[in-house]
Amino acid sequence: MSPRAERLAERVGEAGAELMLISAPANVRYLTGYTGSNGLALVGAGRRTFVTDFRYVEQAAEEVDPSFERVRAPQDLLESLRPLLGDDEMRLAFEEAHISVREHRRLSELLGTQVELVASSGLVEGLRAVKDAEEVERIRAACGLADAALERLLDEGLVGRTEREAALALESTMREMGAKRASFDTIVAAGPHGALPHAQPRDVVIEPGQLVVIDWGAELDGYCSDCTRTVATGEISDHAEEVYALVRSAQLAGLEGVGPGRGGREVDEVARAVIEQAGYGEQYGHGLGHGVGLEVHEAPRLSQRSEDRLEPGNVVSVEPGIYLPHELGVRIEDLVVVNEGGCEILNGISKDLRVVG
Ligand code: ZN
Ligand code: ZN
Repeated sequence: MSPRAERLAERVGEAGAELMLISAPANVRYLTGYTGSNGLALVGAGRRTFVTDFRYVEQAAEEVDPSFERVRAPQDLLESLRPLLGDDEMRLAFEEAHISVREHRRLSELLGTQVELVASSGLVEGLRAVKDAEEVERIRAACGLADAALERLLDEGLVGRTEREAALALESTMREMGAKRASFDTIVAAGPHGALPHAQPRDVVIEPGQLVVIDWGAELDGYCSDCTRTVATGEISDHAEEVYALVRSAQLAGLEGVGPGRGGREVDEVARAVIEQAGYGEQYGHGLGHGVGLEVHEAPRLSQRSEDRLEPGNVVSVEPGIYLPHELGVRIEDLVVVNEGGCEILNGISKDLRVVG
């Protein structure tokens, strides 16, 4: 029996439903092992069913956990549900964040009045937030690959290449090194462009004497990495160095704050206080971090609005930044796994301000 589905079945019962329909691809993958598209899972006490259409039957036979009964369905998988549910009255939980209004209407029509649809959220995501040892090793491997790719990019130098060329080089190096893909669109943002936290790489040449924010990650064996380094292309102003040093100390404070039992809001505050006390609170407009796993943004969150509490096995980013419009941006991000004593950093690139050509 899949222990993940076992734990989910308990949660489904607690949510007041007999069965749960899982449709979000990352959640289906987490529960069943299936990596293709167009798959659904049904989980409840004593019930493990996986549904896909004929295109994926072979793949499912190889990948899906054997505790799941496999059902071949028409391409529109929802059509297969009615006969799978039986004729008794029942409550079926569904993932409200992952079902469209249209799909919900369709479900109601197809399932009829004896099936009550129960909106649920975060049931599988809550399980995914706590990684097992194998998941942590996969994330560590993704981090190691991404580190090696960045080292190659920085060795080759940045000055004279456009942001887009540098981002592309980093992404193709990760692919060459075995990554399935970049885990999100790579950010390479030089000088004033670094002041946009989600900057898109431009066809603009990186100049000497700039700070360059690089935020990148690899997807390997289904798991993501996420890291940011800010490097200098030659000599930078004293002010830029001060801002770098400040973000670095806020990041270190954030890392110190991460540990089991700590609140997501509490950890955010520890790092934010360092930046606020230096007078840059207004220039730091995002949360401190987020969970990373099968997806690059998942539970738990470290932010001013977070209700999450950290526990061993959580993998979170710690990524404060300061963004000075028209001038520069600095962000430093590590990925850590929460353990009994605090946390362990999964990536390995130094945070001393690095000067590259
Ligand atoms: Zn990032
Ligand atoms: Zn991040």
